[in-house]
Amino acid sequence: MFRLLIDTLFPPRCVGCGSYLLAGEDYICLQCISDLPRTLYYLQPESNPMIDRFAGIFPFERATSWLYYIHGNITSHIIHTFKYHRQPQLARRIGALMAEEMTMNGYFYDIDYIMPVPQHWTRRMHRGYNQTEYLADGISEVTDLPVLDNLYAARRHRSQTAFSLAERRANPTGSFSVHHPDQLSDSHILVIDDVCTTGATLIEACTALHTAAPTARLSILTLASTI
Ligand SMILES: [Zn+2]
Repeated sequence: MFRLLIDTLFPPRCVGCGSYLLAGEDYICLQCISDLPRTLYYLQPESNPMIDRFAGIFPFERATSWLYYIHGNITSHIIHTFKYHRQPQLARRIGALMAEEMTMNGYFYDIDYIMPVPQHWTRRMHRGYNQTEYLADGISEVTDLPVLDNLYAARRHRSQTAFSLAERRANPTGSFSVHHPDQLSDSHILVIDDVCTTGATLIEACTALHTAAPTARLSILTLASTI
């Protein structure tokens, strides 16, 4: 009832184009969904720019990213909105949309668990939520795959831009730790993050997982990546 009143007074608008949403549309209109800048990397399962970021650094099975992230494009606007404007449910909605498309292409075949990259508690306390957990929840809603939280941020990782890629690659571990790694043995884990730029955060997270649970197989899916 309260939601109905709010929607009547302030009709929801599309996060992409700002037009009023129609019945059945949720956060984003059908036109903007169809116009999202898809990478289609999942059509290149042997070699794509996401695979290239991690090849030779740690063992993994699949790596892809759904959308291109370019400063000022719709992807950057969506991510900025769910990250900084207290709209975590938008992340859940976008995660579900991504999963619907990836499911059609078989990306979740053989995956046992979804694991969002965690935030350090100080950042989480500041923002109140971790948007990547909401992305993971949206994926879980579509795929029925369980979300695990064994990975945690042991110390605050420094801003992605503060250090060179060479510096970060030289010292990739230490930011993440793994709880109960025995639970992960022999499973296939899909590691989720919102944006992949250099890949440094995912390298740290996946290296920690691989070190703690060497028999676990890893795959990577991010909502977006830079070109
Ligand atoms: Zn729109």
